[in-house]
Amino acid sequence: MKKTDKRGKLVVGNWKMNPQSPQEAVKIFAGIKRVSGKVRGVDVVVCPPFPFLSLFSKKVDGAVSLGAQDVFWVDAGSFTGEVSVQMLKNTRCSHVIVGHSERRAFGETNEIVSKKIESVLKLGLTAILCIGEKERDKNGDYLAFLKNQIKESLEKVNKKTLPQIVIAYEPIWAIGKSFAEAMQGNDMQEMSIFIKKTLVELFGKEESTKNLILYGGSVAPINASDLASNGAIDGFLVGRQSLEPASFGEIIKIVSLA
Ligand code: PEP
Repeated sequence: MKKTDKRGKLVVGNWKMNPQSPQEAVKIFAGIKRVSGKVRGVDVVVCPPFPFLSLFSKKVDGAVSLGAQDVFWVDAGSFTGEVSVQMLKNTRCSHVIVGHSERRAFGETNEIVSKKIESVLKLGLTAILCIGEKERDKNGDYLAFLKNQIKESLEKVNKKTLPQIVIAYEPIWAIGKSFAEAMQGNDMQEMSIFIKKTLVELFGKEESTKNLILYGGSVAPINASDLASNGAIDGFLVGRQSLEPASFGEIIKIVSLA
């Protein structure tokens, strides 16, 4: 992140299937609000599990926004277990994570991701599109895989709604690992360039420069500085450390200073 850069900065916390009680959720959310209220220039989005979203509807403000971890693409109807974009909007969610690798592991395809993104954009919310390869090969086939993920996932997106897309690059091999196994800043820089180039190819230069790019995968205060300073990113998608307000606050601070 260059200091002269006017792009927004964003840190997203994905709580996944945690914590187990509303009391704990309230405590973590309050902690995050406290730490993020002290930092300027970074948008912070917290994505709790669905049952906790309405606990925070009245608590979203300049310090913290609310996001969902997933969504269904149809407006309403007989879809047991699913949640619509309108429901999320009614709970004051502004962001939705789409295509997380843990959803893709249950069979979510680029085609499904593309439908979800279309429905999120239709109601004016921001879609955080997760992409990432399972492993790297010497021939660089993973780059073609990533390009295809971007292309197919954004198939239903037009230039006008493109700014509502955030790309979260989350290499699966770096998620949920030790913090030493996160990507290095220089390697992430190459990936950011690759993602930007792919967006330019798909949508043209002018439009695609507006998309924020995040890194996700075992981010912690210990590795966030290198990634934020050298990774050519606009922020992070954070898993485990978003349940620890002090660490999450450190990460937000690092992003603000990068
Ligand atoms: C994630 O799954 O989106 C993630 C980044 O998790 P963690 O930070 O725990 O690796």
